[in-house]
Amino acid sequence: MVVQTKPPAVVIDADDVIRRIRRVIGDRPDTALHEPTLGGREWEYVKETLDTGWVSSAGSFVSAFENALAEHSGVSHAVVTGTGTAAIHVALLACGVERGDEVLLPALTFVATANAVSYLGAIPHFCDSESETFGINAERLDEHLQDIAVLSGDACINKHTGNRIRALLPMHVLGCPCEIDRLAAVAEKWRLELLIDAAEAVGSRYAGRDIGGFGRASMISFNGNKIITTGGGGAVLTDDADLARRIKHLTTTAREPHPWRFGHDEVGYNYRLPNINAALGLAQLEQIDRFLKLKRLLHEHYVSAFQGARGLSIFREPEGREGNCWLNVMLLDVPDRNERDTLLAATHEAGIGTRPVWDLMHTLVMYEDCPRMEMPVAEALYDRIICLPSSASLESAETS
Ligand SMILES: *Cc1c(COP(=O)(O)O)cnc(C)c1O
Repeated sequence: MVVQTKPPAVVIDADDVIRRIRRVIGDRPDTALHEPTLGGREWEYVKETLDTGWVSSAGSFVSAFENALAEHSGVSHAVVTGTGTAAIHVALLACGVERGDEVLLPALTFVATANAVSYLGAIPHFCDSESETFGINAERLDEHLQDIAVLSGDACINKHTGNRIRALLPMHVLGCPCEIDRLAAVAEKWRLELLIDAAEAVGSRYAGRDIGGFGRASMISFNGNKIITTGGGGAVLTDDADLARRIKHLTTTAREPHPWRFGHDEVGYNYRLPNINAALGLAQLEQIDRFLKLKRLLHEHYVSAFQGARGLSIFREPEGREGNCWLNVMLLDVPDRNERDTLLAATHEAGIGTRPVWDLMHTLVMYEDCPRMEMPVAEALYDRIICLPSSASLESAETS
């Protein structure tokens, strides 16, 4: 008799999965993963920048958008940037990350998180995930640091590489808040700066507060696929006035204030968000509460449409979180790359714009030699996650 060591693989019925998705998104022929929803004063505000000629690097929409963002996120300062990647780069720079430093970040993230670290000549150091939130597993990170790091005064040193580990850069994956409190405790214990890649999590809440208020700073993105868009853009959110001032300076070519002279006191960056994009952003931000409601409803509809499905379910955030439901995920019960790819192919064939999660950072050629933890959970999640079409407009179309 053969002893069975693995549970028998469930063969997932792709037609059944497509029927369940159709129950939520309707019969439209081609459905993108995520599209902008433009239904407010976008035309009016953008037209104003065109009518007045204030389309570029100065103009009143920039500060109006920054003020509205800070208010919406419950932080005292928001500094807007040309992209979310630029926001991460400049926040790390302003917090003192230097060439040769290591920065801890998840392997399960979009490549921008690791790239921003690399721009500084710093080294990404990859962490494993937990399946409850898809974020960095804080306990396992602490164990890893006990293995490989020592504290020398206020510096956390990697015993194997000799490098200083300077910062912890978690990410709220697909909008689900990561375990911020437990990660903050690890950062404090190991004397690490805590900066959070919140690019996908605009509007998400943790412990009753907007995610923008955690860590030294949170960085967000307004790329076209995010919950609100400026075309392209980003921002750093922080309660630290000195840090905000420094980031503003660095992102505006480090120009010294003067009525006409071009004086600059260090190597700065042109990371400004143009006024025309800020106009779009302000109009989008005015609608975010509606988008959040629509996306929550869409998520609930996916959850009920997949009740009783065989071999997979819709990922749900743990109790006490209030993510922005940026992307909905079908989660295979058992990691199975063939099954995942079969479903991706079948849904694409049916005109449904599903996606796998990003290739894990430690598997990309430019990052394969970076320091890292063992990755059992991230590697399993890579074979389990399928992202579903999640635009807010899908819900408004269904309910209107
Ligand atoms: C979108 C995104 C960014 C920033 O992207 P930009 O396109 O530069 O605005 C950074 N990190 C993550 C995880 C993202 O999803």
